[in-house]
Order: sequence, then C-alpha cells, then structure tokens
Amino acid sequence: MKTPEKLYEGYLFDLDGTIYLGDELLPGAKRLVLKLRELEKRVIFLTNNPTRNPGMYAEKLTRLGLKTPPEEVVNTVVTMTGWLLQNHPEAVVFPISEEPLKNSLREAGIKMSEDPEEIDIVIASYDRGFDYRKLQIAFDAIWFHKRAKLVTTNPDRYCPLPGGRGEPDAAAIVGAIEGCTGTKCEVNVGKPDPIMLETVMGLLDLDAKDCVMTGDRLYTEIRMALDAGMPSAVVLTGETTAEDLDEESEENLPAYVLGRIDHLVPADLRREFGWEDA
Ligand SMILES: [Mg+2]
Repeated sequence: MKTPEKLYEGYLFDLDGTIYLGDELLPGAKRLVLKLRELEKRVIFLTNNPTRNPGMYAEKLTRLGLKTPPEEVVNTVVTMTGWLLQNHPEAVVFPISEEPLKNSLREAGIKMSEDPEEIDIVIASYDRGFDYRKLQIAFDAIWFHKRAKLVTTNPDRYCPLPGGRGEPDAAAIVGAIEGCTGTKCEVNVGKPDPIMLETVMGLLDLDAKDCVMTGDRLYTEIRMALDAGMPSAVVLTGETTAEDLDEESEENLPAYVLGRIDHLVPADLRREFGWEDA
C-alpha cells in the first residue's frame, strides 16, 4: 500500500466508510483529525446526502467524540445553494426535497414556488415525502409550460442502510420526472461532479494540488479528485476492497491506498507522534 510521504495543506474527507461506519468512528479517525487541526491544516467533511444540514453532521461527529463545527461540513444542501446563487440567483425554483434544502434556499433568498407557470428550475432531491402532486407540478413546469429545467442534488440511486438494506435516493425522483417529461437532468451538484469540489475549493482558498481527498469509493470522491487534479487516497475501511483495486484500471486509481485513515500521516511523523500501533 502506498501512503503519503508529506503533509498537505487541506484534507477533504468522505464520511461514511471513511471517518465513521454507522454510529462508530473508524480506528485512528479521531486522533488524525485532531492532529491535522493542531497542525493548522484545513479539514472538510463531504457528503452527498441532502436530507440533513451541515449542523446535523457536525452534531453527529461531535456525539461520536470528534467535536466539529458546521463550517467543516459540506453536503449537497450547501453545494446546491451555492450553485444557484452563483449561476441562477434570480431563478424561481421548485425543490422536491426535505426541509434542510428548503431552509437553506430560504436563508439564501432564493425564490421558491409551486406554481408551474413561474418555475424556472425543478430540483429533484432525496425526498421521502415525494408524491404524485409534486410530480405533476414538475411535469407541468417542464413539459406543459416548457420553461423549467431539471437539476439534482446528487446522483445516488439509493442510500445504504444498516443490514444491507437501503432506501430510494435522488436518482429515483430524477427518474420519475425524466420518465414522464422525456427531458434529461442537466446538472448534478454532488460527488463525483466537479461542482462539489469547486464549492469546497472556494471555501478553502487553496490549490487542488495542495489538498488530498480521502474516501472509500472509487467512483465518487476518488473520481471527482482525479478529474480535478487533486491527489487522492482510498481507505479500505468501507466499500472498496484490496481485490477491487487489483481489478481496476490505472486511470481510476488514486495516488494512495490506506489500510486505516491515520496512515494519511507519513510514517516518520506517526513514529514521532507515538502512533506505533497504527
Ligand atoms: Mg463513503
């Protein structure tokens, strides 16, 4: 396994399978993040899930024993709001979403409507309150009035749940709207789209080459980092296994492979910090 030989200025982390698994921090995650902060490195946690706001993730990390401010968390609530403000600040949007996204749009002063005649953008998101009424509004805005375009918070088909189960995610809502309107979703602001990384880089004020993206999935965070020219590391505590890496072609592989997350710190420094057990 190839691990970094130097420290970077910014550290971007996926959450599930990388920092925690379900309701437990993964081995080495806490001391790694605390040490990086102590060394004044920038730390950001990234997730595609739009059903919570950054504060709720910060609370979860804090509850698990890793005290974290909301400013260190970026999810697709943040990236969708940022993308709209940057590209369509005057647009009238119809979010098919749960409350955290609507709250964020409201706070940002983005106009929302359920009137198909004035909707410019339909946002398909992970919405466990999705129903036929919402589908009809999207259909009328896109197909009948021929004015709205379709965008989504994240491309995930389903959200994994404990015990090998899952529940339909934003791609299910996109599929329903594409199916009846014949239109195609034009924008995705979640991993692996570069829009997500651009939003983060805007917050950090650092160059991509001075940061490292770490996660457990090759086709989301690692793909996004490779496309942006950012060094990346896959950690084998989540979805990806060592066998998966053997079968993968070179262009999809990150620079680093970690058995555990605190191997992001170079070996000589780990010795200096007394992390010999890692
Ligand atoms: Mg993950």
